[in-house]
Amino acid sequence: MAEKVSIVIPIYNEALNLPGLFERLSEALAKFTQSYEVIMVDDGSKDGSYQKILELSKGRPVTAIRLKRNFGQTAALAAGIEQATGSIIVTLDSDLENDPRDIPLLLARCSEGFDVVSGWRRDRWQGAYFTRKLPSVTANWLISTLSGTKLHDYGCTLKAYRAEYLKGVQLYGQMHRFIPAYVAWQGGTVTEVPVSYQPRVHGKSNYGTGRIVRVLLDLVFVVFMYKYLNRPMHFFGGWGVVSILAGVVCGSAVIALRLLGMHNPIVSLPVLAIFFIIIGLQFILFGVIAEMLMRTYYESQGRKPYLVGEVKEVA
Ligand code: UDP
Ligand code: MG
Repeated sequence: MAEKVSIVIPIYNEALNLPGLFERLSEALAKFTQSYEVIMVDDGSKDGSYQKILELSKGRPVTAIRLKRNFGQTAALAAGIEQATGSIIVTLDSDLENDPRDIPLLLARCSEGFDVVSGWRRDRWQGAYFTRKLPSVTANWLISTLSGTKLHDYGCTLKAYRAEYLKGVQLYGQMHRFIPAYVAWQGGTVTEVPVSYQPRVHGKSNYGTGRIVRVLLDLVFVVFMYKYLNRPMHFFGGWGVVSILAGVVCGSAVIALRLLGMHNPIVSLPVLAIFFIIIGLQFILFGVIAEMLMRTYYESQGRKPYLVGEVKEVA
């Protein structure tokens, strides 16, 4: 396979993990037959990770990027992807939970023609079934169902992507994990391979269970964006019309009952009629605003969700 591979690694306060990471990475890269580059993105670490990266990178094809402050894992990945020149982009965590020596497994599936190969940490959360494993299985099931792309481990950073799908994609929040779904929506092919998993030795995870809520909120947004980004009026306007119709039905019932001289069984029926009509109008107005926002989104190009502090070609 002659395609160039870009390896993108987000780093936040991982100074103690970096020596091990470089060691395993070198071991993996020594066996590479194709050309490659390594892009290390320091996401505003405060423990000297950036200096460590520069030190360990000497004599290796590493590009080190330091973000101005801590922008979060997704933004760090986006900054690295922006810089990548390979036609295949591999991402992985820097805390040694992912093993760089698994990269060839992913590349092998890529060369079979898959556009995304997702790592699947089959052995993660052993011994913590109810607190970690079950929430993770549930979240992956929900994302798979809503997005239509079935994967066991959306959260695994170790993934390989065909670069053409990533360029021009803006990633916010926790959205890097939805890239496989996005690629599938674009008509790309997605598969997964089991990869090894080791719990963190140095430092601790930057996230707790609260992340699940944020991921799910991002999911709602991503699915909405996918379905309605080009036509928000159809969503809001549709519900607006339904609500106005409900209001008209309630209002007609009030008038009909009065004309027939019958007792109104639901006291609040007139209020409901007005309520539904106002809500419906609000929804339609909301649709108009969303349409305007959508146009701004499309027409104001060239924005990035991060600020690069430095880009260094380490020779
Ligand atoms: N990370 C980052 N910026 C952040 C938080 C994390 O670049 O603000 C990196 C971190 O160094 C690690 C990866 O993202 O390589 C995953 O982070 P973490 O291990 O905390 O998350 P978990 O493994 O629990 O999903
Ligand atoms: Mg981790």
